[in-house]
Amino acid sequence: MRVWREIKRCLQEVLYPEGAVCLGCGKTARGECLCPACREQLFYSDSLESWEFRELQGVPAWSMRPHRGLSRELVLRLKYGAEARAAAELAGVLQTRPAFFPEFPPDTVVTWVPIPRPRLRERCVDHGQLLAEAVARQLGLTCQPLLARRGNDTPQARLDRERRQRNLKKAFIPLGKVESPVLLVDDVLTTGTTALRCIAALRQGGAKDITVLTCTRAVE
Ligand SMILES: [Zn+2]
Repeated sequence: MRVWREIKRCLQEVLYPEGAVCLGCGKTARGECLCPACREQLFYSDSLESWEFRELQGVPAWSMRPHRGLSRELVLRLKYGAEARAAAELAGVLQTRPAFFPEFPPDTVVTWVPIPRPRLRERCVDHGQLLAEAVARQLGLTCQPLLARRGNDTPQARLDRERRQRNLKKAFIPLGKVESPVLLVDDVLTTGTTALRCIAALRQGGAKDITVLTCTRAVE
């Protein structure tokens, strides 16, 4: 199992070499994901006012940046390149988290929205997991899978709106009993439908204290 994971990781690195150039501007990044100028831009340009808050059926949902510019670029690299360094850069934004961002109890479990199985087979790596692990490291919390994705694996894009909703409704199940507070991490928050399905599944598993955190917030 571990051997396979290592092989996958190696393949991933061949397909998507990291660290050669800055993800933001394409200039040499000296083994880093971003050059200093781009990192500074990600950190400080409209940093505090770019945090957004909304409530999803009583669950607080935070988004760190709007889905544009460098943040969007990093999310795309994470999503389609499954780059751990992109995950680390995005989670690094939490270093400058605003005072209104909540402190989490130490037993909080960081978890993610699992991607559909065919996509996982295709990509080998769940980018949500990479992100959740990076966020957990940043906040000093543990990261664990709490949700499974099941059933109909038809790509969402091929379904009409109604069937997409129905498909998503049954998509997530809790992996077991959830007793600790949960921080559900995802890359982008758009309509919130996926997050709501995950919240429902986590509640079904017994979760009472849930918070959502996404890197970016897209306009619907
Ligand atoms: Zn750069």
